[in-house]
Amino acid sequence: MSEDSLNDLPILIAGGGIGGLAAAVGLANKGFSVVVLERAPQLGEIGAGIQLGPNAFHAFDALGVGAQARGMAVYIDALRLMDALTAEEITSIDLGDAFRKRFGNPYAVVHRGDLHGVFLKACQAHPNIDLRVASEVVDYEQTAERVTARLASGATVEGALLIGADGLWSKVRTRVVGDGQPRVSGHTTYRSVIPTEHMPEDLRWNAATLWAGPKCHIVHYPLSRWKLFNLVVTYHNDAPEPVAGKPVTVEEVLAGFTHVHERAQSIIRHGRDWKLWVLCDREPVENWVDGRVVLLGDAAHPMLQYFAQGACMAMEDAVCIADALGARPDDVPTALEAYRRRRAVRTARVQLQSRAIGEHVYHPAGAHAAARNAVMRAKTSEDYYGHLAWLYGGNALDHDTA
Ligand SMILES: Cc1cc2nc3c(=O)[nH]c(=O)nc-3n(C[C@H](O)[C@H](O)[C@H](O)COP(=O)(O)OP(=O)(O)OC[C@H]3O[C@@H](n4cnc5c(N)ncnc54)[C@H](O)[C@@H]3O)c2cc1C
Repeated sequence: MSEDSLNDLPILIAGGGIGGLAAAVGLANKGFSVVVLERAPQLGEIGAGIQLGPNAFHAFDALGVGAQARGMAVYIDALRLMDALTAEEITSIDLGDAFRKRFGNPYAVVHRGDLHGVFLKACQAHPNIDLRVASEVVDYEQTAERVTARLASGATVEGALLIGADGLWSKVRTRVVGDGQPRVSGHTTYRSVIPTEHMPEDLRWNAATLWAGPKCHIVHYPLSRWKLFNLVVTYHNDAPEPVAGKPVTVEEVLAGFTHVHERAQSIIRHGRDWKLWVLCDREPVENWVDGRVVLLGDAAHPMLQYFAQGACMAMEDAVCIADALGARPDDVPTALEAYRRRRAVRTARVQLQSRAIGEHVYHPAGAHAAARNAVMRAKTSEDYYGHLAWLYGGNALDHDTA
């Protein structure tokens, strides 16, 4: 066996979020042994929703969890864009048969816990996967043959390679890229999940609905077999510092939305237990690899949520890294470079377009908003399918772009 190969050591993954667990499943299915090192005392996800484009379903199938993933999803009929000042519909993209036929899979919304649970169950059932909690990776060392991950406890774990799937504040990225703190966007997002009966009856649409207003927007969609509604509202208030999951009152949330239509404001009043995040992203970079160490998911390409693609991209990464290492187990550096090449441009495009969508679709005011309405109203669903084909079409392995 050459010194570049996996030898008999496991693959280490720092982070047991959606990206880390998806990668563990993909790699274990290729026959590799995997150790997942998760910082938290238990594995789980925050209680909120997530949208999944057809490309997420292509990834589920490639990772062998298609049936389980399809079972937990709510299949929505439309992506609906409302003007938050007038409460009039701007456009609605049909997600029915024509959409599914075009992209070979549906668009869906799911509870994060359910999505994470699909991968967690697959990991727990797989004899090749060792899940370790309370295991924060703080640093690593490597030789030509192996990587040693150092944990916060002082313990060390040896592997053939280390995948940094440790999210926005990745410690592994600090070493691989060293580009400092994430960029604070100044956008404050508030999340709430409510029972469906608390959602105003005339707004219980089977759609992912976006109410776009000046420097603010509201998103809602059903979850968990229609038992719940996910509410996500965002206010571009130039918040200066990152915040994650701080409880806030409904009055604080409403304060950023006094200028929007009463119908849009009423959605916020129906929320409960609001929590606040100040969103961050990063500039795209290409250097995701340091010898036997590589980045995946938000650690590699954190993005604003406006394209609803962060988790979808993490799952595509998982498909690609499993494919690359499966094809070249004898040559880890070449396999990691092949993975990076497949992912870097595509994910950079999603990072940059997520910002652009925020600026030009979600938050414009005045003439900018009028132009948005005119341009977006003039397009048919078929037009939108054409714009989205690069993202939703093909599967993760079709995008060798770097
Ligand atoms: C408001 C909002 C809405 C969104 N909506 C969507 C959507 O609709 N569709 C979509 O596809 N995406 C969406 N996203 C993006 C999506 O949530 C993320 O891209 C995705 O969760 C990233 O997964 P990850 O596994 O890479 O990182 P994370 O989910 O951040 O997981 C990282 C894991 O690593 C652990 N960890 C951290 N540091 C360490 C360490 N040093 N050692 C060990 N473990 C560590 C953490 O505890 C965590 O479990 C949204 C994001 C936000 C903020």
